Amino acid sequence: MTMLEGQHITVLGGGLSGRAAAGLAKRLGAKVTLSDLRADCLPLEGVENVMGEHPDSLLDVDTVVVSPGIPASTAAVQKALAMGTEVVGELGFAAEFLPEDVPLVAVTGTNGKSTVTSFTGQLLNAGGWRTFSGGNLGTPLSEAVGQSWDALVVEVSSYQMELPGAFAPHVAAVLNLSPDHLLRHKTMESYAAHKLRALSLLKAGGVGVLPAEDSLLDRLSADFGCDTCRFDDPSGFVLESAGATVLGSSIGLEGLQVPGELNRWNAAAACLLARLAGLPVEDLHPEILTALPHRMQGVPVQDNRLWINDSKATNVEATLAGVMGLTGPVVLLLGGQGKDGADYRRLRDLFENGPVVDAVVFGQAGSVIASALSGHSVHRAEKLAGAVDLAKVLAESGATVVLSPACASFDEFDDFSHRGRVFESLVAGVEKTDVEEGRER
Ligand code: ADP
Repeated sequence: MTMLEGQHITVLGGGLSGRAAAGLAKRLGAKVTLSDLRADCLPLEGVENVMGEHPDSLLDVDTVVVSPGIPASTAAVQKALAMGTEVVGELGFAAEFLPEDVPLVAVTGTNGKSTVTSFTGQLLNAGGWRTFSGGNLGTPLSEAVGQSWDALVVEVSSYQMELPGAFAPHVAAVLNLSPDHLLRHKTMESYAAHKLRALSLLKAGGVGVLPAEDSLLDRLSADFGCDTCRFDDPSGFVLESAGATVLGSSIGLEGLQVPGELNRWNAAAACLLARLAGLPVEDLHPEILTALPHRMQGVPVQDNRLWINDSKATNVEATLAGVMGLTGPVVLLLGGQGKDGADYRRLRDLFENGPVVDAVVFGQAGSVIASALSGHSVHRAEKLAGAVDLAKVLAESGATVVLSPACASFDEFDDFSHRGRVFESLVAGVEKTDVEEGRER
């Protein structure tokens, strides 16, 4: 493909998405420059690399492609726009080169995006469709270009909606909205506007997907005037109104293997998305779904307790949603690096109306969370390892122990997946100690 021959394209941001966009532009025949403000950013072979700065000369080109990690308000982006240069995000850049007739499904929302994207991809693949699932999760959309697909399912972050370019999905889901990422978007209104933007980008005749009961989303989406379908978990998906797109059927979720009510809800969303992408109802098999790592994922140990790794729950809403749907008694491990504005008192509900009997708090935010939960059974540990040790003492046979920390991980770990891996090895260590002690006795 030489669609971009003779064009000069600058890609800002040398992370995964930026490198994929630069690779795509190169494959399409463009002269490409990759630029990152980090002087030690790894250069990309086959393109010009300008690291440590974004000089003005790089902005006066045919197109500037912006990685999702770079806010549209950044000086270089604003300068490029002022120069009249075409400026587009990685998703929008990739979307220009996708075939129009392959169903493109976008998944947005505050929590559950990766899970629903993965579930939808799993359902379509199991139905025999060659399906790309990626975007904000895993493989950038730029890498999907040029391959032959029956469907594309793309996780979209609010950051990626700042400069959406040609990104126009056939189906767009907004799963939920809660005040996360306020640091970059400043206000809830601006954050909501970016999340809901996917609905305004739908292709003509496209369908929006929303949960059956969400008054905030109902209110905010009313202005978009697009056809919408609602999903509901007990009965599988239900159709509310989707103009010419009549589905009508509901699907049973009895055979689901993934744990927790939340996963049922995510599976219902994924079933509806797969149907709207065009998968016939008889080819829909939700019983094949498996959890993504670190998201409500069972840890494979056998010590008469159920250990669940939900390290990806980095905000209060995610923890509330995930843990509320578990069967008690639950010992909950909470803590890490706190987020500005997080209201940990809301977690009291997990004791008062939910399955939690004991919490163990750890990390930087441990003491703040402990005071927010005062009056309930809360234990303190300095770090995750100590929290797992305490949980082992607190959790009796038959109990569930879940790491669903409601906090970022950076005070102790590289990221949530590092925290999840350490948790799993600590849990496995617990098991090993038990076994060894058993042998000695
Ligand atoms: P995202 O990609 O939006 O960050 P993930 O699928 O990675 O979402 O899930 C992140 C965390 O959010 C999970 O670990 C779980 O605790 C919680 N979660 C998963 N699905 C949902 C949902 N539908 N609603 C609220 N929280 C959810």
